[in-house]
Amino acid sequence: MLLRILLLLGCLMLAVLGAEDFYKLLGLKKNASEREIKKAYRQLSKKYHPDKNPGDKEAEEKFVNIAEAYEVLVDEETRKIYDQYGHEGIEQHKRGGGPRQHHDPFDLFSRFFGGSGHFGHQGGERKGPDMEVRVAVPLRDFYNGRKTTFTVEKQAVCSACEGSGSEDGHVDQCDVCGGHGRIIRKQQLAPGMFQQIQMQCEKCGGRGKTIKHVCPVCQGNRVVREPETHDLEVEKGMPRGVRITYENEADESPDWVAGDLVVHLVESEPVLGQQDHERTDGTFFRRRGNDLFWREVISLREAWMGDWTRNITHLDGHIVQLSRKRGEVVQPNTVEIISDEGMPIWHQHLENNAGEVFGSLHVEYVVVLPDQMEKGMEKDFWATWEKWRKKNGKTLDQEWARPKEPIVMPPIEDEGHSEL
Ligand SMILES: [Zn+2]
Ligand SMILES: [Zn+2]
Repeated sequence: MLLRILLLLGCLMLAVLGAEDFYKLLGLKKNASEREIKKAYRQLSKKYHPDKNPGDKEAEEKFVNIAEAYEVLVDEETRKIYDQYGHEGIEQHKRGGGPRQHHDPFDLFSRFFGGSGHFGHQGGERKGPDMEVRVAVPLRDFYNGRKTTFTVEKQAVCSACEGSGSEDGHVDQCDVCGGHGRIIRKQQLAPGMFQQIQMQCEKCGGRGKTIKHVCPVCQGNRVVREPETHDLEVEKGMPRGVRITYENEADESPDWVAGDLVVHLVESEPVLGQQDHERTDGTFFRRRGNDLFWREVISLREAWMGDWTRNITHLDGHIVQLSRKRGEVVQPNTVEIISDEGMPIWHQHLENNAGEVFGSLHVEYVVVLPDQMEKGMEKDFWATWEKWRKKNGKTLDQEWARPKEPIVMPPIEDEGHSEL
């Protein structure tokens, strides 16, 4: 007898020792906040859900352990016990009949994602509607990449009543409709003639269930509206308008599995920010696919005579230098294509190293002529032009044999028949 007890105890100890650290299991640090614990549970429980990993015993075990780890860490009291005494402390607490009941991991899952804790395709369960939100980020973020967050307001299963709508968890079948939610009423149309009409049960509002003590948080609606913050990683070179899917993060309901939240990532209007890194020329680059476009204004002198340099600050602050030597002419509206100064190309890396591949930067030169000049300067220029005009000047009108008088068109009528 004693041996059996010892053996049992030994097994128990082994089980306790063998269990994985709850923090490690959820990928958390010891000082993780409640929000981080919830987030870790949301992510991991979806990943290891048995419906997504059919036949995978390891995943199933992990799914169960994640639920347990979550329940222990999210509760202040049990977390304290766990921090101090580890798994053994929790086991003892459970045996001592701690106030918290151990949940079915699927129940817990359904509290987070609605439905009955399963995914649609397996249990034939209905999936709720997908939700789409637009998130606008500046071009800079598409170029540099950025980790940010966004918040959406959505319908969530009420955590106070765990989606039952009842404060004490008791839900009764409606005694008027017998749980059908509908009642049949006979209506007399004429003596001896009846019509049967189906109506929604008034007592239960069609739910088939009644609640004596309504949950004070959701007022018996079983769901609440609440903001939820998600992480968003804008990857370098992501195309504008890309859609990023957050599985099962749309509106929740106890009646269905939450649909997907789809983020439509768009580019915001360029504005000069307050900080230095928000004040680069690149802020006003325009993007088409992997290429960037920029308009550079140069003076008549620069366009014509050359001998100038310009520093354009790119979206990450590096400088792209434009320059011409003396005598190098830039015709108005010329477009210079500078390779590798466009957008990083999404998900593409050179084979030989980890370097990134970029599109091109298209610089269009706009030449501005002076409309005001000092008198002396104007005189000098005029004189120079006159001198050279007399020597080599051509009248292009004459050269191209342009007429001096307007050309008269033939009348429209009397043209005769046109072949079509
Ligand atoms: Zn509630
Ligand atoms: Zn009813």
